[in-house]
Amino acid sequence: MDPDVEKVRNDLLRLTSTPRVTGTERNVIPLLRELMSPFSDVFKVDVWGNSEAIINPGGKPVVMLAAHIDQIGIIVKDMTEEGFVRFEGVGWDAKVLYGMRVKILTPEGEVRGVISTLPPHVFRTYKDLAEKKIEIRDLVIDIGAESREEAEKAGIKPGIYGVPDYEPISLLGDYFSSPGLDDAAGVATMMEALRLTWESRDKIDAEVHFVATIQEEIGLRGAEMMAYKIRPDVAVAIDVTFAKQPLMPAEFILKTGKGPAISKGPIYHWEVVESLERAAKEAGVPYQVEPDFRGYGTDTWAIQVAKGGVKTGLLSIPLRSMHSPVEVISLRDVAWGGALLSEFLRIQ
Ligand SMILES: [Zn+2]
Repeated sequence: MDPDVEKVRNDLLRLTSTPRVTGTERNVIPLLRELMSPFSDVFKVDVWGNSEAIINPGGKPVVMLAAHIDQIGIIVKDMTEEGFVRFEGVGWDAKVLYGMRVKILTPEGEVRGVISTLPPHVFRTYKDLAEKKIEIRDLVIDIGAESREEAEKAGIKPGIYGVPDYEPISLLGDYFSSPGLDDAAGVATMMEALRLTWESRDKIDAEVHFVATIQEEIGLRGAEMMAYKIRPDVAVAIDVTFAKQPLMPAEFILKTGKGPAISKGPIYHWEVVESLERAAKEAGVPYQVEPDFRGYGTDTWAIQVAKGGVKTGLLSIPLRSMHSPVEVISLRDVAWGGALLSEFLRIQ
């Protein structure tokens, strides 16, 4: 199947340009509504900012697709007397933050800053520099303020959020890079599935919920809420997974551009796995298999045990440089994932 990557590129350009730090997912709801509600019977948002598009309400079985809308970011802790901003963040490698540009999201607008680095010259030897262990608590954001008061005047205060200040970019071929592709790539996959399913909605029996879940990055919070509420019979989470790249340990075998990955392991129900593989074959979509004995890293983990047990699966988009401002995917994996899921919904 020839993937249509341009629609996917457009969705991703818009999703990745909208800050969606865990805890601020409500910022992206207008965009989700615009992109998803034309292709659904119902579009709903709950009190926490979980949003869902529903097709064929009243159908059977009840199927839930879940992709998390939050992205990793930072939260301001305090400011130094000299005007530097201290912060905290979940899911980051401090080495990646070192030297990164950030946007701090104040109620009055964005304040730009850079995470300070130390000149290599101040270390006596390269060995000293290599051995300096950088932790997030040692890092500060330089916003150009000369005092705490000046930082406060610019709108900086404890408890506000920030994101990497990087534009999404198209690389060679259909490769694409941006911060927050974890899990904008999964949301775009779900949106492609939504459009395809809407076009052929007379062919499905299932009631389908396409859910953009919140707060996955700090413990699958939104997936837990929505699985309890929807009480699905079948569910598939859509997330990103580790693609092979130089310096990765040998056990990482998935490749970008070779199709989405279907997970196999204890928490992935055999009927869902079988059905996803059958859907890939019927849709003419290449796929890879990701063996995963543990499974706690995605929304699948929370949904599996909801309401006394749900048949769950996981579809993943292979991604390089995860949890960095330069995450990389191939857009055809996203387009193929959408086609696979729409076929999966048809055969439920
Ligand atoms: Zn994720």
